[in-house]
Amino acid sequence: MLRHSLILKIYAYAVVAFSALAVVIYFAFDTMMRNQEVSIFQERVSPQVTFLADEVAEAGPGTPAGKARLVELQRGMSVQLWYYPWSDSTHIPAKLRREAQDMETGASTSPYGQFYWVRVDQAGKAIGALRVRFRPPFRSNRQQQSRRFYYWPLLVIGMLALVLIPPLIYWVIHPLRRLEGLVLRLADGDLKTPVRLDRQDELGRLAAAFDSMRLQVRRMLHEKEHLLTDVSHELRGPLTRMALAQDLLEDDLGNNPYIARLRKELGNLDTLTGELLSLSRNRHGVPLTVSAVDLSAVAGELVAERDLLAGQTGITLKAALAPAQTEGDAALLLRACGNLIDNALKYTPSGGTVLVESRLVNDRVIFSVTDTGIGITAEALPHVFEPFYRPDAARSRETGGSGLGLAIVKAIIDRHRGDVTLASTDGQGTTATISLPALIG
Ligand code: ATP
Ligand code: MG
Repeated sequence: MLRHSLILKIYAYAVVAFSALAVVIYFAFDTMMRNQEVSIFQERVSPQVTFLADEVAEAGPGTPAGKARLVELQRGMSVQLWYYPWSDSTHIPAKLRREAQDMETGASTSPYGQFYWVRVDQAGKAIGALRVRFRPPFRSNRQQQSRRFYYWPLLVIGMLALVLIPPLIYWVIHPLRRLEGLVLRLADGDLKTPVRLDRQDELGRLAAAFDSMRLQVRRMLHEKEHLLTDVSHELRGPLTRMALAQDLLEDDLGNNPYIARLRKELGNLDTLTGELLSLSRNRHGVPLTVSAVDLSAVAGELVAERDLLAGQTGITLKAALAPAQTEGDAALLLRACGNLIDNALKYTPSGGTVLVESRLVNDRVIFSVTDTGIGITAEALPHVFEPFYRPDAARSRETGGSGLGLAIVKAIIDRHRGDVTLASTDGQGTTATISLPALIG
């Protein structure tokens, strides 16, 4: 999971970094406190502890007089004292025993836990050890100090981590998320929205690189489209002249199968260049002649025109038309709707049904064509709106056409701020739907 999530990675790094910092600070403080304790001991505690040991040794530890002296000292100096004979190996810390061998005086060099220990000598010989605990206000044991000094840096660092890590993550992840959205739009074909981030760092540069890629792709597409428009435009002249020459040839030679073939191919070429021109004009936004258009009227006209042809090919063409007022270029909308009906008739075998519907749904008008034809495979479906895309070459050749029909429909509907979608089950049929803003009132 860590490999796939930047958020988790940053979080893990931050936690490790903050923990390392906390450990370093902890040890720095610990060393400082240790040194401080040793110096407190040497300056203030050591003389007192040595004094106590001398007093106890003099009174004779273990004797009633010695015990009385211990009680007296406890009261007088606000300390707690315990005396252990040197032979009492279970109580006296081993460290003190080791230190005692090297020491001239009997005092220990540092505190052991909450206590100070001191060797009690008599005639230069160790006879026991005294355990000393000072009562407040003489605070020098480690626990009291550590509570005050040791944990607050850790607490501060913990709080800092809690407060600082989320903005850090947001700071890195938020622009990445925005960039992701912008790039997805780019991939979706939106080449107009700039991919821009107001940053000077690597992310800003990445966005700038994407933006220059966007402009480059846009320029290339533009050039390609224009080439297509220019070529189809330029082809029109020779095509007209060829049709003229073919008419003259027909006059000269009369009925000839080759001339009939020529006429057919010339017709195909003429349709193709016409459709190409229409596609590029619609894409480049040649001005629309806008008026109120009722899609039910458009559909009625189209169905009436095709009724005969449908009957001849054994297809039942039905219509269920409710008023559906929108605004747009009537000729172009007629063309878009006509293309969908033509497809349905073309890709539905004899005996099938084609249903043309129009209706108003909320603030949209819907025009749809449902057929019981050959359908489109799931792999082909996402591509059918691409120019020249024809999924099955063999079956397409049989039905004729260039694969520009749906591309033209999409270009027209896009210009009318509408949507066109195709839903299909391979082998069972297709529903093509156009949705446009309704003209209210
Ligand atoms: P043109 O429309 O340029 O004469 P075409 O019909 O092949 O040629 P499009 O209308 O763009 O091109 O359709 C693209 C492809 O989508 C078609 O070749 C066809 O395979 C498939 N298709 C479109 N509509 C249907 C439908 N109603 N049923 C089955 N397949 C369809
Ligand atoms: Mg078509």
